[in-house]
Amino acid sequence: MVDFANILFSGRCNARCPYCIGRQIDPPLNEDNLDRFPPTNLERLIAIIWQQHIRQVILTGTNTDPQLYRHEEKLLKLLREQTPQGTQLVLHTNGRLALRKIEVFNRYDRASVSFPSFNPLTYRRMMGVPNPPDLKAILQQATIPVKVSCILTDDNVGEIDEFLERCQKLGVQRLVLRKLYGERRTWEMLFPSHVKLDRTGDYRGNPVYCYQGMEVTLWDFQQTESTSINLFSNGLISDQYLLTHPKKVNLKILKTTPPQHGIQLHGDSAEAKHGFNLLRLVDPPGQSPAYPGAPGAGRSPATAETGKDRKAAREPTFPIRREGRRAAHPG
Ligand code: SF4
Repeated sequence: MVDFANILFSGRCNARCPYCIGRQIDPPLNEDNLDRFPPTNLERLIAIIWQQHIRQVILTGTNTDPQLYRHEEKLLKLLREQTPQGTQLVLHTNGRLALRKIEVFNRYDRASVSFPSFNPLTYRRMMGVPNPPDLKAILQQATIPVKVSCILTDDNVGEIDEFLERCQKLGVQRLVLRKLYGERRTWEMLFPSHVKLDRTGDYRGNPVYCYQGMEVTLWDFQQTESTSINLFSNGLISDQYLLTHPKKVNLKILKTTPPQHGIQLHGDSAEAKHGFNLLRLVDPPGQSPAYPGAPGAGRSPATAETGKDRKAAREPTFPIRREGRRAAHPG
C-alpha cells in the first residue's frame, strides 16, 4: 500500500535555507515547472492514485515552495475533479505566501507550515531570508487544520522552551519537531533534558508527546517508514524521493518485474541511468487514460469489467519498498 503521492515543484524559492536538500537531488529532477500546467505526467500519477487506492496527495517542492506554482488554484480544481472522492489534498509550505494566497490555502484539506523560529534573527539564519511569516495570522485565517513543522538544529534548539510555549498559546494543535536530514544525534542528545513532555504514543515509529494539550511529534525521516509515489518536476514518477545516488539502481526490480496493466518499468531508459526505479504508465494502444474523470476515459481500475482486469486493479503492479520519507521541503 502506498501512503501518499507527492507532486513536486521545482524552481526559484522564496527562501534560501542552507539545509535545503533539494540541492542534493539530481539536477534533471529540478527542472523549473512553476509555470507549467498541468505538471508533466500528472495524468499518469492520477492513474496510479486510482490504481493504488492512494487517498492523500501532497503538493510540495524539491527546491521551491508549492505556493509559488502559478497554477496552484487550477491544479487543485483538477485534482478535486480527477482523483477519487475523499482524496485529501495537502499543502507543505514554508508559509511565506500563505496570507497573500489565503483563499487558495484554504482550498486544501490541511496544510503543514515550516516555521523554525519566532525570532527574526534565528529565522533568517535558518531560512536564509528575513521576516518570518505571521504564524498567528495564518492560524487565525486558516479554515483548515494547520500543522506546524519545525526543523531542530543548533540554531534554534536553545529557544525550544519559548517556541513550545508560543505555539501552544497561538492554539497550534499539532507541532512536529524534525531532525535535519543526516542528523546523527539521538533525540536525547539533541533535545534539552530540562524540557519535559508527556509521551502519549507513537506515529510511524516516531514518539508523540503532549505539551499542555498540544500534540508534539519528534520526527526522524531516517527512522520513519512510509511509502510514497513522487511526481518530479520533469515528469519522472518514482517510489523514491531523494534521488541522488546513481549507483543505487535496483536492477533486480527493473529487470524482473513484468509490465502489467499498463505500467512498465523502463530499466534501460535514460532516466534509469540516474539510478532509480522509474515507473511509467503506458496506455494500451487505442485506449484512453484508465481513470475516471479523464477526458474520454472508458474504464478505470475501479470499474474494470473483466475478472482479469479486476485482479489487475486490486494488485500492486510494481514493487513498493518501504523507506524513510525524506522531505526536501521542510513541510
Ligand atoms: S527547504 Fe523549502 S523553503 Fe527552504 S529553500 Fe528549500 S524549498 Fe525553499
